[in-house]
Amino acid sequence: MLYINCPHCGMRSQNEFSYGGDASVKRPELNKEVSNQEWDNFVYNRKSLRGKHLELWQHIFGCRQWIKVERDTATHEIFNTFKADEEVT
Ligand SMILES: [Zn+2]
Repeated sequence: MLYINCPHCGMRSQNEFSYGGDASVKRPELNKEVSNQEWDNFVYNRKSLRGKHLELWQHIFGCRQWIKVERDTATHEIFNTFKADEEVT
């Protein structure tokens, strides 16, 4: 069982969260010409990385906020959590 430290609520069971995908995907700029390949990459194409990865999770049975979770996809170790609007370097 994983425990995720929600930045709003504190440490909670993974059962209270829903996985939301890759948090490193950036939407193309507004009012900019975007190629079909750029849209495909934004909407569909994801890397399946092994190792440390930044993910989106929603605390659906808690505060319902989206958060970012830095997690190792091989070991499931969670290194850090951030509010959704926090810039992660
Ligand atoms: Zn929460």
